Amino acid sequence: MLRISRLTTLFVFTLFFVVGLTADEGMYPLSEISRLDLKAKGLKIDVSEIYNPDGVSLVDAICQVGGGTGEFVSADGLILTNHHIAFSGVTNASTPEHDYLRDGFTASTREAEYPAQGYMCRITEAYRDVSKEVLGVVTDGMSPAERSDAIQEQMKKLAKDAEADRENISCEVSEMFPGKSYVLFTYRIIRDVRLVYVPPLAVGNYGGEIDNWVWPRHTGDFSFLRAYVGPDGKTAPYAKENVPYKPKRFIKVAPKGVSDGDFVFILGYPGRTYRHKSADYIALYQNTILPYLSARYDYMIETMENASEGDRALQLEFADLMKGLANATKNYKGKLQGLRRLGLVEKRRAEEAELQKYIESNPELNAKFSKTQKELSAVYKGYEETALQEIIASMLGRNQYIAMLSSVMKAVEKGDVTGEKATRLQEFIEKQYGLIHQETELEFLATLLHDFQKLPADQRPAAVTAFAGSETDRAKVLARVREAFKKSAIATHAGMAVVLGWDEEKLAASKDPFVELVRGLNALNEEIILRRRTRDGELKRLEAEFLDAKMAWQKKDFIPDANSTLRLTYGYIRGYAPADATIYKPQTTLRGLVEKNTGEEPFNAPARLVELYNTRSYDKSYEDALLEDVPIAMLYNMDTTGGNSGSPVLNARGELVGVNFDRAFEATVNDYQWSEDYSRSIGADIRYVLFVAKYLGQADFLLRELGVH
Ligand code: ASP
Repeated sequence: MLRISRLTTLFVFTLFFVVGLTADEGMYPLSEISRLDLKAKGLKIDVSEIYNPDGVSLVDAICQVGGGTGEFVSADGLILTNHHIAFSGVTNASTPEHDYLRDGFTASTREAEYPAQGYMCRITEAYRDVSKEVLGVVTDGMSPAERSDAIQEQMKKLAKDAEADRENISCEVSEMFPGKSYVLFTYRIIRDVRLVYVPPLAVGNYGGEIDNWVWPRHTGDFSFLRAYVGPDGKTAPYAKENVPYKPKRFIKVAPKGVSDGDFVFILGYPGRTYRHKSADYIALYQNTILPYLSARYDYMIETMENASEGDRALQLEFADLMKGLANATKNYKGKLQGLRRLGLVEKRRAEEAELQKYIESNPELNAKFSKTQKELSAVYKGYEETALQEIIASMLGRNQYIAMLSSVMKAVEKGDVTGEKATRLQEFIEKQYGLIHQETELEFLATLLHDFQKLPADQRPAAVTAFAGSETDRAKVLARVREAFKKSAIATHAGMAVVLGWDEEKLAASKDPFVELVRGLNALNEEIILRRRTRDGELKRLEAEFLDAKMAWQKKDFIPDANSTLRLTYGYIRGYAPADATIYKPQTTLRGLVEKNTGEEPFNAPARLVELYNTRSYDKSYEDALLEDVPIAMLYNMDTTGGNSGSPVLNARGELVGVNFDRAFEATVNDYQWSEDYSRSIGADIRYVLFVAKYLGQADFLLRELGVH
């Protein structure tokens, strides 16, 4: 009792105490870091230790990996990231006999480290503003589609020229503000990434989908990987003789962790935010896109769950996709709730009306921007009309049968049916047929075709109606899909290989129902691509103008939306009030995990973990002195989004105190609008990472490599 009330007092005190120290909205690009007065916010090291273009700094210890972020934590290329980032590497390595996903994976020797298939790392080496070079290709007479193409091509060309024949290097031009500013990034690439330590699923994903995007949290969402290069130090694909990569810089672990109110910062690769978009864009997502995707993902998850019940091999096969879909659908639900609660569309509309008044009151601005908002609105209205058609077509394009047949048909049309490319396609097809769960894939196909039938008549491709019939009953569409599949060449792998052997004429004359369907879908896709190019070209002009007008009105510069480039965000360990009469503290503990533990998935912590808590038979240095317990997760008001998964949480001295893995439910909407009130991200406390590695993984070798204990 005493302990609780002491903590409560501390929490309340901290909430008030920190009022003066505010985090700011912002995922700051490298170019902005030196302009931030981070010392005044609480940083204890020189800002050049974070980013120093002329020397080595913390930025050199950060990599992009598996769609998220990782950080080097040893001189031997050891990477700390999230369990959910390593997830697909672990599922790939798992079989029902060696279920590393369920049981965890520990490589106690370098030889035992297992290739994380399909993973690579990117490390930012340099950047350069190329806005002038990119926009210099736009000329007055260009149509919107030509403008979009010219910009895209120039971005690719600049990247390619910069890469030239440099080994280990890949370059990319990123759009910072559409139609306004572009930066060329140079990345070092590493192609051999291996699994080192992965906790059991019941730790790494403790709480599962119930707790995902939720606080309070007790998930040990971390894993260790290692980057390898060839013996000559150059980038190389996986090979036994490869050696650990020596990063320019690695991050030191701070085994003492952090406390409520402490200053923290994050370096990482946030994926996408939409903070500078107009009200119409947000309305389109709120009313049309997010509800559709969320409903479809829910349906797909349910279908896969039912199909794989009791079949562990199939569950492992589906695991990766299901996890991604579940993560996205819950995020969309959070966003929808947030958008409604905030009334963001209405707020932005009111703001845009004010902006229009300001533009009209200023002759110079009026001459440039009087029509901008109206035209921008018209583009989004047009998009709204066809948005569902575009989404369904793109989801259909990812149906495995459709995607494979489409590749085969393209190869036949191009005459690419012999040689290395064709062999690779053949091998790919053979492998895919071994993996596809036919019933599920046909089921998905039928549902999407059925969705097409609900669109306005002029948006329904004739080929789809011919294939699915004019059925409005989904079960009937499914029956037709199954029937067509039986009759089609693609019903078997051998049949698909036969199609690859056809010539163009034979393909053109084919009445195979799937060939006809793909032909129709391909034609539709061409229409959609042209529509998108036109829209993109229009948006590049209008969104640039919109932003210029807003900057003139608000008299400030804006931070570019997240775009998967390296960013810094800073803030404080801090709780929040998500709802009326509710206050969340910013740290969770082992006690909370044990209290939550029902023994049933996803609250089925390993027995050893519960025993450790009950007997307190562990080294007390893992405990937090104030909490008198092992801390598990923490909450902070930093500005993060997807892609920041796995980012290091660093203390005022630039040492590692945690690994970022999620946001609170209310914070999912911060992709559109950040707020001190609800924008809270979640990380695993480094002390829990070390605790789990030691006591569950018996991975003392890891702790030694990290320089602790
Ligand atoms: N857990 C999140 C993700 O997987 C990270 C975030 O978006 O904050 O996308």
